[in-house]
Amino acid sequence: MFASAAESGVTGFMVPGISLESSLKAAFLSETRTGVYASAGIHPNEFDPDYPDNPADISEILLRPRVIAVGETGLDLYREGISAELQIKMFKKHIRLAEAFGLTLIVHSRNAEREVLDVLGDDVAVPVIMHCFTGPDDIAIEAADRGYYIGFAGPLTFKKNDQLRDLARSLPPDRILIETDAPYLSPEPHRGKRNEPSYVKYIADTISEIWDRDTSMTAVTLMKNSMEALQLGPFLRTDLVYLLYGNIYMNITGRCANRCRFCIKDRADGIGHYYLKHHREPLETRLESIIESLSPRMGEELVFCGYGEPTMRPELLKKLARSASERGFRVRLNTNGTCLSWLSPGETASLLEPFDSISVSLNASCKEEYNAVCRPENGNAWDRLLEFIELAGRAASVRLTAVKHSGVCMESVKKLAKNLSLPLRIRG
Ligand code: SF4
Repeated sequence: MFASAAESGVTGFMVPGISLESSLKAAFLSETRTGVYASAGIHPNEFDPDYPDNPADISEILLRPRVIAVGETGLDLYREGISAELQIKMFKKHIRLAEAFGLTLIVHSRNAEREVLDVLGDDVAVPVIMHCFTGPDDIAIEAADRGYYIGFAGPLTFKKNDQLRDLARSLPPDRILIETDAPYLSPEPHRGKRNEPSYVKYIADTISEIWDRDTSMTAVTLMKNSMEALQLGPFLRTDLVYLLYGNIYMNITGRCANRCRFCIKDRADGIGHYYLKHHREPLETRLESIIESLSPRMGEELVFCGYGEPTMRPELLKKLARSASERGFRVRLNTNGTCLSWLSPGETASLLEPFDSISVSLNASCKEEYNAVCRPENGNAWDRLLEFIELAGRAASVRLTAVKHSGVCMESVKKLAKNLSLPLRIRG
């Protein structure tokens, strides 16, 4: 399948989950095959009515690095079995998860297009894909007006389906996506056989005819649409929660009062496949919803960090850490330890209360080194850092870290850590 796809020029894949099991398989595939991304969701026909809480289990999969969408989810009133009421409840849970994690929503609808739009409402905060659309024209036009993407699959190529092609012609080109919905709905000339990713070219060709454009121009537009719909780019998404070394990290701010010479923010948009750079400060409500979607079985510790310094948002940090602790997490703070530059000792002690452990970036052995390498706004930040370490030791277990840098004497840093009787981890 991958070989035939490559021969057809298909090199990127979105593999949607439709159940807990298939979502896990899709996530695994995304981590083992280049160019594969996954989504996690429970299709409206796949719920176990006796176990309706399984969207909660999806959150665990959503933390994985190449899982970039929530779905398939939606409503299916064509098949009997699961009540519309339960489907709507589950659909709403998926929408909330997508919004909390900031991931694209992939929507299935069959005989329920109006109901789907009603449940989605006007203000979903993430991109929405109306996947494999074959519904009424007015629904597609309203969905496109709302900014949703309309996905066309094999039916677009069916000989008698002029109505669907007319619909595609009437939609703004920047709202159109193509897909296979494999193994179903093979396009012409393979209709009736098992579908596969390489056949997406037939749908692209049909779009080219509809747009009356050169195929390479069509491909450029469709690729751009896919990237935007799936937020595949550092400017399109910021991951506020991610999994690393078996722990869950929460990226709560992009602000920092230092300008360390080695700061990763200046060199990369994120870590691994996560986009961590902030384009605006994350909303408190979104961070709160993320915490509500997490459970301690998903990671050993919940670590509050930032693509910046988390104590720059002290009230929010305290609130989130408390809430995580109440949910049973071991809670850690990763900090540069300079918050006494903007908080009083009392405020700092209160901020640290919910934490079980605190990791402090020492990064220097004296004020001169610190000011030269970490370049803090406050010239006395080093003194505040040492005061913080003492204060933190009264609240939780503390460990120090230091990044190797040419302007820092590591032997002196080690000596200082020893004098402070604190463990030190040196990073490369
Ligand atoms: S303290 Fe951390 S976030 Fe701030 S500049 Fe230094 S490395 Fe970057």
